Amino acid sequence: MELNQKPDNYQDLTFRDRMATVDQEGKRVWVFPKMPQGKFTNYRRIVAYSLLLFFYLAPHLRVNGDPLIFLNFMDRRFVLFGEVFYPQDFHLLVLSFITLLVFIILFTVVYGRIFCGWTCPQTVFMEFVYRPIEYMIDGDRSKQRNLAKQPMGPVKLFKRILKHSIFLLISYITSLTFLSYIIGWPAVRQLMAGWPFSNFGGFMGIMAFTGIHYFVFAWFREQVCSIVCPYGRLQGVMLDQNSIVVAYDYLRGEPRGRGKNEDKGDCIDCKRCVDVCPTGIDIRNGTQLECINCTACIDACASVMYAVNKPKGLIRYASERSISEGKKKVMNARALAYSAVLVILLGIAGFAFMNRDEVETTIVRTQGTLFQSYGEDALSNLYDLQMINKSNNPVVMDLKLIEPEGEIKIPGDSLILNKGEIIKRNVLIILPKNELKSSNTHVIIGVYREGTEVEQISSSFVGPNALDVK
Ligand code: SF4
Ligand code: SF4
Repeated sequence: MELNQKPDNYQDLTFRDRMATVDQEGKRVWVFPKMPQGKFTNYRRIVAYSLLLFFYLAPHLRVNGDPLIFLNFMDRRFVLFGEVFYPQDFHLLVLSFITLLVFIILFTVVYGRIFCGWTCPQTVFMEFVYRPIEYMIDGDRSKQRNLAKQPMGPVKLFKRILKHSIFLLISYITSLTFLSYIIGWPAVRQLMAGWPFSNFGGFMGIMAFTGIHYFVFAWFREQVCSIVCPYGRLQGVMLDQNSIVVAYDYLRGEPRGRGKNEDKGDCIDCKRCVDVCPTGIDIRNGTQLECINCTACIDACASVMYAVNKPKGLIRYASERSISEGKKKVMNARALAYSAVLVILLGIAGFAFMNRDEVETTIVRTQGTLFQSYGEDALSNLYDLQMINKSNNPVVMDLKLIEPEGEIKIPGDSLILNKGEIIKRNVLIILPKNELKSSNTHVIIGVYREGTEVEQISSSFVGPNALDVK
């Protein structure tokens, strides 16, 4: 073999040495992706604008008098689609968190980075808010490149000021929307009245969030997915040969090249798939960490295949294994089995949420108290009662002693709780001495809502030793 001659089985893997957006000197390579067009882009556009509409409207839409979503950390009151959650629902939070974690892992193992390409806020804002504005003002890929190379002149200055003013405005509106999820839109409006001096802290907070948002989408961009995002970093351990990802069919495409040579594969090496890629990679090199599965290259290649009269799907959703085995089917047995598990998980979490107690009651013996005589033949214990009405309507509650024979006394007004109200009372349980079997008697208290029993709570009743009682 001659010096510098590459062996026949040589495969250029230098693209794995560094990120596509970093050059050999370690400097950022700015990506100017071509505007994507096609079936998947249209579907993604529908999903993205639906999500954006929801994001901007949710704090303003009201259900049962509350915003659609309201995460009030100060008062520890969380509203999701009309349902109010309190710290007492912590077990549901834990359940949701575990479900979400398992869901993400399973979902990624089966479907790769579908979340990144279709619903991740970073992709949605970048590709469907900021990038379209850039296309509108600076033009498509080649015009953007030329503009970037041009020295600053009146036209470039005007375009830059216009574009970045719009970016800043969107970042500001997004910050206000984000804040209204936490403190509510009326409070945000109050904060804004008389800005910047009336509430300087709040003003600075909004400015900081606006600045970060603007920085991410005006400059940092795809670097978030490639460098910062922990989910992106975990792809290496979650994806395997059966995961469904955006993939290039190298069996069909190689050897790539133009011309009518029959030895050539279907890839005409036009590089349209590379031109549209927002992370600047060449999907023909195989699955790479930078790939956010945005489908832009699928659409670009489909239009090329259409033009050269070849079947589309040279780049498509597929697993590495299905491509190496020349299979066309996207779903495999493992994907179906994992999907079934995902549906079951969602079902369990949904069931837990739907069946959570609307009125939460806790009754515990008051700390540091013992028994007291109650008349000649009875003893009493003092308990702390707490009730929370998590429903959207007022409720009339009551307590009855179910076991053993005895009485429960609730001082004060009857137990009527308004929506979201928390009441705390001391209640007295009175037992005849002849019901006490030991120094610690098991008691069962029935909790009634509008006359119907909804729960039974167990507790203990302390008394003297059984022998002393007799
Ligand atoms: S768009 Fe399709 S045909 Fe063109 S280079 Fe990419 S894979 Fe090959
Ligand atoms: S390789 Fe294709 S799917 Fe992946 S980020 Fe680039 S354009 Fe999107």
